[in-house]
Amino acid sequence: MKIGIPKEIKKDEYRVSVTPHGVAELLELGVEVYLETLAGEGSGFSDQEYLDAGAVVLKNASEVFTLADIIIKVKEPIESEYSLFKEKQTLFTYLHLAADEKLTHFLLEKKIRAFSYETLLLNGKLPLLEPMSEVAGKMAALMGAVHLGKYQGGLGLLAGGVVGTQKAKVMVLGGGVAGTCAAEVAAGLGADVTIYDINLDRLHYLDAVLPVNVATMYSSKAAISELLPNADIVIGTVLIPGAKAPKLITKDMLGMMKQGSVLVDVSIDQGGCFETSKPTTHTAPTFIEEGIVHYCVANMPGAYPRTSTFALTNATLPYVKALAKYGAEKICDELDVMVSALNTYDGVLYNKAVGEAHAIEY
Ligand code: NAD
Repeated sequence: MKIGIPKEIKKDEYRVSVTPHGVAELLELGVEVYLETLAGEGSGFSDQEYLDAGAVVLKNASEVFTLADIIIKVKEPIESEYSLFKEKQTLFTYLHLAADEKLTHFLLEKKIRAFSYETLLLNGKLPLLEPMSEVAGKMAALMGAVHLGKYQGGLGLLAGGVVGTQKAKVMVLGGGVAGTCAAEVAAGLGADVTIYDINLDRLHYLDAVLPVNVATMYSSKAAISELLPNADIVIGTVLIPGAKAPKLITKDMLGMMKQGSVLVDVSIDQGGCFETSKPTTHTAPTFIEEGIVHYCVANMPGAYPRTSTFALTNATLPYVKALAKYGAEKICDELDVMVSALNTYDGVLYNKAVGEAHAIEY
């Protein structure tokens, strides 16, 4: 089997899909690994480290896609990468297809055997989304605090305040992996935090483990509307696996908010959980609508590639190894869990939520 690791070319994306250590483990299986030159540079890995691990380093993405049976990436292919794929090639990466109709049609038409990290479900958890959600959640609280700065368009409040002043009020919508990390960091900054979820068991757990400056709240439109006029930072982290994110804050509701308050939409990769969100980049991470600062970077972990690349390989490598061993043809028979990762195969859609998002038969 031949594995290809192209350089990520999405704007401000510095992660790479496999570390040199991961490549060495793949080679132990007897597979060949083709890496695009400088693919690891943004994460601090030189070509020489990959050569030492046993990879073949190629001079461009085209050579990698031509030689490889299986492409391992970090982010979903962007349009300029579509022409690189061979018919029936295997792809394993973050896909977020519910938010990307064009890519869904491309993968189906090209008969790509596409497995996604973010839908792989094991014992009720999403273990390949988890590490990046941790990074994005921790970053979300920091980014919210930074963009409250007056020079960023924010209302000029320091998140934790100082003696004798008000602390920021932070609402975290969604109490899963990203939401819990966001709440922990916001609480650590000294803010006054409320975390919302629709899963009561999860709220019980959060109530037990989070610090005293984090309150829990059952998520409903009424409960969100009640706190929204006082919120300084709202962090959206809700997820319905595979599906488009529900819009918990509509355009109308922005009128209830303070001018200069900040929305951080972590769920933007699934279409966003605020109606006014649209994807932004690390270079231009925010825009202001109705006086509210919107931070909607779709590849937040790309900003901290050294942490994120190690965390990603830690989680994905066992599955990459299995895919290399069995190939796309046999993997779902050999490893049940890969059925949940399968999105498209030889022109057929296998993910119900993606089918519903784009009205495609699955
Ligand atoms: P998760 O499944 O661990 O948590 C999602 C939580 O949302 C669950 O606890 C669920 O009960 C809750 N939820 C669902 N509907 C809700 C509602 N109406 N109100 C309140 N809570 C609700 O998911 P996660 O791993 O934390 O990921 C969250 C999102 O962050 C995903 O969309 C993921 O793709 C995204 N993400 C984005 C980036 C980025 O760079 N922007 C990086 C990593 C993850």
